[in-house]
Amino acid sequence: MTPSTRSARFLIVGPQGSGKGTQGVLVARAFGVPQVSTGDIFRANISGGTELGKRVQSIIEAGDLVPDELTSELVRDRLSQADAAEGFLLDGYPRNQGQVADLDAFLTGRGEGLDAVIELDVPRDESIARISQRAIEQGRTDDTEEVIANRLAIYERETAPILDVYRQRGIVDRIDGVGTLDEVTDRIFAALAVRGLVATHPGDAVASA
Ligand code: AMP
Repeated sequence: MTPSTRSARFLIVGPQGSGKGTQGVLVARAFGVPQVSTGDIFRANISGGTELGKRVQSIIEAGDLVPDELTSELVRDRLSQADAAEGFLLDGYPRNQGQVADLDAFLTGRGEGLDAVIELDVPRDESIARISQRAIEQGRTDDTEEVIANRLAIYERETAPILDVYRQRGIVDRIDGVGTLDEVTDRIFAALAVRGLVATHPGDAVASA
């Protein structure tokens, strides 16, 4: 990377119901990079009835993790597209240590690395309340009580520990995820700015919903 080109390679991590999907879209837009959500890609394949969708449907409905090889390949394909050359925002990947290793191998092979990991910190009770609200509004098939409990348990067991790996690299910004949507977005921008990562299209981070 030459000093004149600032890349914007982000990862947003947080438990289900932390608002990471919404914040991820806003941050990606403000930096002019694609938001890459593995959950969204899987859901689009399920509703489109593709081969991939058929393979992952029952796994997702149970709240379990799709196998690493399949997920990592999907992400490598997506990040290889032209629009992700200068940056991207990953949402929901990597989700365990194996995927961290896969992503490291891929990015290192391209001479790249993550610039920042945004950790959205939301207490457990608050995230459960938000997921229940989303279940009413969106009717997601993996937003039932039993599946939510499984997804949160997997988050705590497999995903939260990956933050320690990134913390050791000094790239984690822990953001208080309780507050209005705008307050949380502002906290994210402030933390990224400290790293010298400044949005190129900040006006695009205005929530349209
Ligand atoms: P999300 O929208 O990020 O909560 O993802 C919805 C579901 O898609 C998860 O509960 C998993 O079943 C699957 N999924 C999404 N991302 C991954 C990933 N990185 N690894 C494995 N499974 C994933």
